[in-house]
Amino acid sequence: MTNRILVIAQHDGERLDAATAKTVACARLIEGEVDVAVFGANAGGIADAAAKLAGVSRVLRIEREENAAPLAAVLAPQIARLAENYTHVLAPSSTFGKDVLPRAAALAGAPQVSDIQRVINARSFERPIYAGNVLTSVRVPEGVKVFGTVRLASFQAVAAEGSASIESVSLDAALPSHTRFVKLESAKSERPDLQGAKIVVSGGRGVGSKENFDIIFRFADKLGAAVGASRAAVDAGFVPNDMQVGQTGKIIAPDLYIACGISGAIQHVTGIKDAGTIVAINKDPDAPIFEIADIGLVGDLFAILPELEAAIDAAKSS
Ligand SMILES: Cc1cc2nc3c(=O)[nH]c(=O)nc-3n(C[C@H](O)[C@H](O)[C@H](O)COP(=O)(O)OP(=O)(O)OC[C@H]3O[C@@H](n4cnc5c(N)ncnc54)[C@H](O)[C@@H]3O)c2cc1C
Repeated sequence: MTNRILVIAQHDGERLDAATAKTVACARLIEGEVDVAVFGANAGGIADAAAKLAGVSRVLRIEREENAAPLAAVLAPQIARLAENYTHVLAPSSTFGKDVLPRAAALAGAPQVSDIQRVINARSFERPIYAGNVLTSVRVPEGVKVFGTVRLASFQAVAAEGSASIESVSLDAALPSHTRFVKLESAKSERPDLQGAKIVVSGGRGVGSKENFDIIFRFADKLGAAVGASRAAVDAGFVPNDMQVGQTGKIIAPDLYIACGISGAIQHVTGIKDAGTIVAINKDPDAPIFEIADIGLVGDLFAILPELEAAIDAAKSS
């Protein structure tokens, strides 16, 4: 049987998220036809962007008022209905995908393969377990639909060079009456998004306080970087929890990761394993972070960061 793979697009109502292009990259490794489903209220521009993703055959535009916000309870019945025509349904392993896909899989009576980091074949996938310390392969039996979330740090986004057809689809799926969108409150930031940034500067418990975290923000701004944090920094209230990097936070793969006052616990390190270059600043020379760092600076972050800032300024003005 030919594989038919459906990718659920992630977007913010205006722009297609890069997570979709990475999920399509994973989908293409499962040989078959790849379609992208765009749920929204007014999703024309997003569907156009999805149609440009290399390797996509069709974009399905599913527009209705209720789809304006990405509510799992509302999207899941529609995804389960669409899934009837597909062998595989994939979504990014992001907050969005982790929210919606298990629910859709349950409605479709299928299991879910979480955090796919490699496609072994159309039914077997590799995924990390134990905070990335063990890789396991998971096989979905013949005849069972494959629902999978895709680990974004493991796939390179496909290029925007395709020209898929776009079809408007109306689904007759019963939507729940118990869940409705009230409002979205989110932190507005001029800084790059943590999951898409090329450079990330993170602070840990060693930063000491919410006020002290300014030194991390200032340094990040100098580099045009996103800001992350360890769980200890989040739990201590230095920064909000959407900045947490690691096993129970965000899994990221920037070109450059700078960890300041972070010890390097396995749950943190699992979130940065795919980073290009890791720089660690820590006053303890035996901190485990130095075992995985490409560049280690032993010393007080409050002395080292201003020195680095001055060096960057000097380099910029020369
Ligand atoms: C189920 C589970 C899930 C978890 N998920 C996550 C996760 O997603 N992300 C995560 O980060 N953690 C996670 N953790 C927590 C993790 O185990 C660690 O407790 C946490 O990462 C420690 O954070 P930290 O490195 O900031 O703090 P610490 O381990 O306390 O380290 C602070 C470091 O700062 C250094 N330091 C102190 N002052 C300075 C200074 N002035 N200059 C330079 N260095 C200084 C110290 O030498 C020390 O190495 C999880 C734990 C569990 C059990």
